[in-house]
Amino acid sequence: MSSIITSSPSALVQQMKSSGIHRGYIINLNKQQPKVSHEIFNDLLSFVRTSPDYQQHEGIFWAIEPESESLFIVAVHDTHRGSAQGGTRMKQYNTTVGIFTDVMRLAKGMTDKNACAGIWWGGGKSVLHTPQHPRSIQGEARQHIFKQFGLFVASLNGVYVCAEDMNISPEDLRVVHAYNRFCTCVPAEIGGSSNPSSFTARGVFNGLMAAVHFTEGIDDIDAIDLKGKHILVQGAGNVGWVLIEEIVKAGGRVTVFDISERTKERLRNHFPPEQVTIEEDIDTFYSMNADVFAPCAIGAILNDDTIPNLNVKIIAGAANNQLKDPVRHAEMLHERGILYTPDFIINRIGIVNCANEQYGYLVDTIEEKIKEVYGDTLRLLQKASKEEESPELIAMQLADQLSQVDHPIWGHRGIKLIAQLEKNGWADAG
Ligand code: NAD
Repeated sequence: MSSIITSSPSALVQQMKSSGIHRGYIINLNKQQPKVSHEIFNDLLSFVRTSPDYQQHEGIFWAIEPESESLFIVAVHDTHRGSAQGGTRMKQYNTTVGIFTDVMRLAKGMTDKNACAGIWWGGGKSVLHTPQHPRSIQGEARQHIFKQFGLFVASLNGVYVCAEDMNISPEDLRVVHAYNRFCTCVPAEIGGSSNPSSFTARGVFNGLMAAVHFTEGIDDIDAIDLKGKHILVQGAGNVGWVLIEEIVKAGGRVTVFDISERTKERLRNHFPPEQVTIEEDIDTFYSMNADVFAPCAIGAILNDDTIPNLNVKIIAGAANNQLKDPVRHAEMLHERGILYTPDFIINRIGIVNCANEQYGYLVDTIEEKIKEVYGDTLRLLQKASKEEESPELIAMQLADQLSQVDHPIWGHRGIKLIAQLEKNGWADAG
């Protein structure tokens, strides 16, 4: 593999700058041969084609922002159900292949999540790579990046609709929204739904309760009691924090692992020590004896290294793409008798909230959708048990089927939009 794509993304930025090329794409209009916009990206094309995370994505589009030397990437996985929707992740990556791997995995995850949630949206994701840590970029410099990112999304003509993800606030999305009409999670005062995290957390809690009830033969959404249960929570951020609150209210005991000293301090000050404790060592944390493990920080943490050490009955958390390999690692957990509750089934309320915003925000609908997570999860676990398969496999089958249903009004419009971008020379404009 060429060193340009395996080294820091700034190498790609410099290569594009010196070639006078500002945009690039890899598109796949017929689910056969992907095409690349310029020869200089051939190594990237080779990497993408052979990556296990490339799932015949309809398009991957990128552009450089010369002033800040940022790189913008949008991955569109599938648009049968509508525009590709998924959050924008602002992050400083170490390598270009790291960005493409992440964005492809996350976009496919959004196709599955949106389809299973019954939303008329396809799946996509975007990454805004910056050469410095995103939180260190503030004021005018930050506004400039989000303005340029907004124009980049606008140039894609609605094939992708963005939302909030890591290191992005509704205020950042206010700037994006000022430069395109394809943006959700904007502040409430301009008709948005703002930060969805607390709703997401309550959906995850219902999924977690459904898994606990499944193991105990209970089917009652109101039977909320976690007394005597020990739950491991990895990451006490926007979602993890509210999940811990719900578990504490239900009488459960929580052990938290978080890398942030500030968050740990807040946890100590806020929660009763007899119910919430902090573990400092990650290996000890992974091997703790507990009823439930709730990953709420980063993806790919269920892998060859961690799975053999786990000492829990259930996994149910918010993080996207928890399984490093969705097939093999789901199977490993299944064989170990650990009940895995698919992330894209129980963490969907964030995106449900964004979908709701587009047609005029109805908060009561969100409350109904949060409740639905319980029943949907329970039924999925029951089906998987009956068929003696892992819940992930059953959920993937459902996602594969639902994601291929055409939007009832617009059909498979996204693929036409991509064809039009190619025809109009999108990669050589801008
Ligand atoms: P966040 O950034 O607010 O919180 C993440 C927390 O995890 C922080 O406290 C951080 O210190 C901690 N952390 C980071 N790396 C860690 C590590 N290696 N080990 C332990 N802790 C670590 O993020 P969030 O909005 O709470 O989202 C959490 C996860 O849930 C993410 O994977 C996100 O993609 C997913 N998710 C979030 C939403 C939502 O509505 N926010 C919706 C769906 C999925």
